[in-house]
Amino acid sequence: MIVKNVRLETVCGVTSKLPDNTLTEIAFAGKSNVGKSSLINALMNRKALARMSAQPGKTQTINFYNVNDRIYLVDLPGYGYASARVEIKAQWGRMIENYLHTSKQLAAVFLLIDIRHEPSDNDAMMYDWMKQQGYAPIIIATKVDKIPKSKQPAHVNMIRNKLDPEGSPVILLFSALNKLGRDEIWEAIDELAGISGEEEDRLNDTDTAKPTSDTPSADRRPRWKDTGRATAKKTKRMQQKRKLNRDKKKSNPGKSKKKG
Ligand code: GDP
Repeated sequence: MIVKNVRLETVCGVTSKLPDNTLTEIAFAGKSNVGKSSLINALMNRKALARMSAQPGKTQTINFYNVNDRIYLVDLPGYGYASARVEIKAQWGRMIENYLHTSKQLAAVFLLIDIRHEPSDNDAMMYDWMKQQGYAPIIIATKVDKIPKSKQPAHVNMIRNKLDPEGSPVILLFSALNKLGRDEIWEAIDELAGISGEEEDRLNDTDTAKPTSDTPSADRRPRWKDTGRATAKKTKRMQQKRKLNRDKKKSNPGKSKKKG
């Protein structure tokens, strides 16, 4: 999906009622600090729309990001702070379980696992929960830039063996540092949300992209391409000047010759 516009539309706390959405929802779960905000921001081409884990114990909410008025990316609260109080942990569990159980529009859940470490018991619990609720969890191994390429297959096997040794879960690799895997994740989302190639093409034709101040510069379109001119203004002026000099020389050939 080419992201044209995004906005944080709904924030649900423990006591809030879940929104009665009509658009497809794609959710992201994972332990705190796994890189969930970084992934969601990268998918949305935003530097810091999704909350970053500045401090442990950040508010436990479910955030719904509307993308192109077509789907929601749903940021589930991160779990696994060793220091979190028992009731906070229980609250987190109820929130996520309630969401997985209640949402009518949820098409898929991605489970994020840091590629460097063996999944925790909480990760395994989350994975089993998802399966029990009827979802085939798709695993995203995050922070892959932190492991040499040669060692990545062994780490992927470690994740698979802990979470689902008998199954063959899909495991996608992602790095927020160099955006490796971003396109594959979008392809998976498009497929899960039933976004066809034709719909994508239509979206690309209606070019309404509005870069915002926090759009990374790499994602901005080249400035002078959308002016419709084949040549930038400055280059054109230089070409005209050179042509003028050539014409002058032609009409007055002796002038530039050295005296001798
Ligand atoms: P969250 O708590 O799961 O939302 O995690 P964040 O997205 O806030 O990331 C936690 C920390 O890991 C931050 O310091 C990020 O800069 C860092 N981080 C996230 N993704 C990556 C990645 O792909 N590569 C590297 N090297 N660091 C990452």
